[in-house]
Amino acid sequence: MPIKRIGILTSGGDAPGMNAAIRSIVRSAYYNNLEVLGIRRGYNGLINGDIIQLSQSSVGGLTGRGGTILYTARCPEFNSPEGIAKARDTCKYRGIDGIVAIGGDGTFRGLRDLSHAGVLTCGVPATIDNDIACTNYSIGFDTACNTAADAIDKLRDTMQSHERCSIVEVMGHRSGHLAVYVGIAVGANAILVPERPYDFRQDVLEKIYCTRNRGHSHFIIIVAEGAGNAIDVAAQIKEHTGMEPRITVLGHIQRGGAPTVRDRVTASRMGKHAVDVLIEGKTNRVVGILDGSLQDFDIYEALEMKRGLQDSMYETAVILSRSV
Ligand code: ATP
Repeated sequence: MPIKRIGILTSGGDAPGMNAAIRSIVRSAYYNNLEVLGIRRGYNGLINGDIIQLSQSSVGGLTGRGGTILYTARCPEFNSPEGIAKARDTCKYRGIDGIVAIGGDGTFRGLRDLSHAGVLTCGVPATIDNDIACTNYSIGFDTACNTAADAIDKLRDTMQSHERCSIVEVMGHRSGHLAVYVGIAVGANAILVPERPYDFRQDVLEKIYCTRNRGHSHFIIIVAEGAGNAIDVAAQIKEHTGMEPRITVLGHIQRGGAPTVRDRVTASRMGKHAVDVLIEGKTNRVVGILDGSLQDFDIYEALEMKRGLQDSMYETAVILSRSV
């Protein structure tokens, strides 16, 4: 039976470009004569019926807007069979045939369970960590990299003037993609990531000494959240070099701002693809880009896939920061 109405939600941490994905899903759905409902605050909205109508005009001007107009939230209740049953009942009551959820791996686990309960589901990957294995690219990553690089460029100016060492903590509890990309982009002297063990002397101190021997007197060290504590790194640098490093935690600023063209276009393409998937009657799918082409994967398989930090990317970062 052809589907008539779909719901959209954003879940987990927000990422720039989520709004562009919402707009794309709404416009693609109306193009195919589907009605669209917006579910607010992640899976909470499905459980408690916090749902709004989304018209074509309600998503006008959204491609360039950061954040998510549907709000996002964690929803622990959705991890339980009772929560899933409530969400399924809401879908039945509101005539929702399919759900598109924009978020990360946790969000896709929720979609998998909802699909089991009989609702068609498709996920769209969005996280500034870019750590979703079934896709080479997740919405928000490029914007976050540009935001962080812009901030570090500014920091560098003042670090250079005062001949200081700057420790910059970027987001990434379990993932160093952002740290490595940004580190390469700003020419960091050292980059610490959670996926690779490091030797403080060799990977931080030696690089500072080498840079100093080449006549430089300011240093930028990038630490991903999950790679260690910026305060500890600063204390060790002080102990060994006598410098007083300044710590900058970029924090949530990395999740905000107008999405870059790459994120707007990727979000628009992925959103349209998700609608096509549901129209075909497929379920338990997640959209991804592999080798440049847009595809969709079974969520079980997608969650099993492994994709760590690319060796060649890490190696490039290490070589370029070596400075000898
Ligand atoms: P981020 O990359 O920002 O962490 P995410 O989508 O992985 O994004 P999570 O907080 O892990 O974020 O998950 C978002 C929501 O998905 C949870 O709050 C919960 O509602 C739902 N969810 C997560 N894991 C499961 C699960 N195993 N079963 C059902 N629902 C889940």
